[in-house]
Amino acid sequence: MSCNCYCSRRIIAMDDCIFCKIIKGEIPSYKVYEDEHIYAFLDIKPLSKGHTLVLPKQHYKGISDIPEELLCEVNKVSKRMVSKIQKKFSPLGFIICQNNGESAGQTIHHYHLHIKPVYEGTVIPDETDHRKELSKEEMNSIVNDLIEEEI
Ligand code: AMP
Ligand code: ZN
Repeated sequence: MSCNCYCSRRIIAMDDCIFCKIIKGEIPSYKVYEDEHIYAFLDIKPLSKGHTLVLPKQHYKGISDIPEELLCEVNKVSKRMVSKIQKKFSPLGFIICQNNGESAGQTIHHYHLHIKPVYEGTVIPDETDHRKELSKEEMNSIVNDLIEEEI
């Protein structure tokens, strides 16, 4: 598969990636959106009505290797999908997240953004119990570590 637009990238699929197979049409999906770069479909095991996955057609594992411009495209489409879901199903809010790395819960290693509508009664994991306040020194030390690091 190749891209016809200005970027003229070849869309490289990973043979063992289930999302690449979905994009190529080898595995069925409940597609809700497609353009040259982006594909979106309903999560097979949704948290709630309209739980959607938005991903680049090109295989990238996570936030560190996806190009910034493609990340913008994923977010643009996600914003439009949020509007659609809002109009049609009127959720109270949305959780937008991306599990990055196995230890963070990523099970499919093809970058994808989750759009999870939240309705009355939707059970969302509460991690506030596991948070803790840090001292000013600890907070400042983290700030210093981060601002001295070149991006
Ligand atoms: P993550 O744990 O962030 O990698 O999310 C992977 C998501 O993909 C999970 O929420 C799964 O329910 C979903 N999923 C896995 N296989 C399929 C599939 N064939 N079609 C749609 N969603 C899928
Ligand atoms: Zn893939």
